[in-house]
Amino acid sequence: MFYDKSEKYLQESPPIEALNLQSYEEVIGHKKLEKLKQLAAPLENKVWAHVNSTYIGGGVAEMLKSLVPLAKGFGIDAQWHLFEAHSEDFFYITKKFHDLIQGVEQPFSVEELHGVYIDNSIKNFENYSVTADLTVVHDPQPCATSVFGNYEGPKLWRCHIDTTSANKLIWNFLLPFINHYDGAIFTDERFVKQGVKKPVYRVAPSIDPLSPKNRQLSEQEARQILAPLFNKHNIDGDRPIVLAVSRYDIHKNQATIIKAFKEIKNDKEVQNKKPILIIVGNTASDDPDGLAMYGQIMEDRENDTDIFLLMNIENNDENIGALMRIANQFVHISTKEGFGLVVTEALWQGTPVIGSNVGGIPQQVIDNETGFLVEPFEIDQIKQKMKYLLLHPDESKHIGKQAMEHVRENFLLPSLLEKYLLLMRHYTGVDSNHPHFKIG
Ligand code: UDP
Repeated sequence: MFYDKSEKYLQESPPIEALNLQSYEEVIGHKKLEKLKQLAAPLENKVWAHVNSTYIGGGVAEMLKSLVPLAKGFGIDAQWHLFEAHSEDFFYITKKFHDLIQGVEQPFSVEELHGVYIDNSIKNFENYSVTADLTVVHDPQPCATSVFGNYEGPKLWRCHIDTTSANKLIWNFLLPFINHYDGAIFTDERFVKQGVKKPVYRVAPSIDPLSPKNRQLSEQEARQILAPLFNKHNIDGDRPIVLAVSRYDIHKNQATIIKAFKEIKNDKEVQNKKPILIIVGNTASDDPDGLAMYGQIMEDRENDTDIFLLMNIENNDENIGALMRIANQFVHISTKEGFGLVVTEALWQGTPVIGSNVGGIPQQVIDNETGFLVEPFEIDQIKQKMKYLLLHPDESKHIGKQAMEHVRENFLLPSLLEKYLLLMRHYTGVDSNHPHFKIG
């Protein structure tokens, strides 16, 4: 459950140790590390606060868990404040917001907006304040705290969601709160909607190359990690693997992956390669849609023994990294996607991605270079790319290498930190100009 009655008030996360930067030098190189040190030097001991609504689970928490210690490693006083639910309704309502912002229509009431959502913001700050040289508030859950919270110092709102088809009423409801920040950060230009009157920055999320999931593995290491999982599910890991990993969710479009795979595996040329499809997914215990979706996908599978649907796997992080390492291809054809960290993770393990041309995916999947871009329901296009990669494993590896470099250059945690350092420098007056990634 998101809601934990023992944690009712905004609070600081458990203490977080500074990271030893030496380990990063091996991944990003001496030059980049020195550049970061230079940028960070005038920010020493400055307070950089984050506010978000969960310490465990979800992409934002994953990122903060790595970003905060990394910033501390550079001498910045990075803090993480947790925004808590005061009633069980709160996260159900913000999940609704999340869906409405992603274009899934459903009814909502004034009581939900004002009675629960706003009330929760007020209660979180009843006996609390956040004083920082820069505060970053993540996602819609604590968005209204720009007005109802107690902040001292400049603050930015960071939106991690694909807002292209956001429900107009919800967006207009959020706008005054967004405009009460000193700026807003979006993952993609296309997500910025009309009415935002403060500076807007484009910042992509990133992955931590040193986390157990993203540690780069040799093929042998990966196979060793996977042996118990493959045994348990009777998977022949020597067969070419078409892999998909995501929550079981309507937007993740797993049904189309299954459909395309079923058709392609019987293709004359593909048949003797004997590919298998592995779909790994998880669902939060308080997300009834997830379980229903898993049931639906199970039905779509129709007892096809070349398709493995795994749910909440053990040793999750290491197994996912290892699967991504040995897969022939990774397929991620969501219909909506804020960024798609799974895509980053797969590319980083050197596996080409067949990705849909939506949300943040095209920043990562460069057509013919790091993978292939397709339309989410264009089944012939998807089949064609699946077939190509299955028939050309060497080309798949070549594309995978380019994919890895694309991530190294753009989507590793130090690149994200660099952008935040530039923002901190601007908002603390070290640099008068806005950083180069200001887009509005
Ligand atoms: N994930 C996982 N186990 C699963 C399914 C997903 O660890 O069974 C992770 C995945 O590796 C990624 C995150 O959950 O780090 C999903 O982030 P993404 O941005 O792709 O999608 P979201 O779930 O935020 O829409």
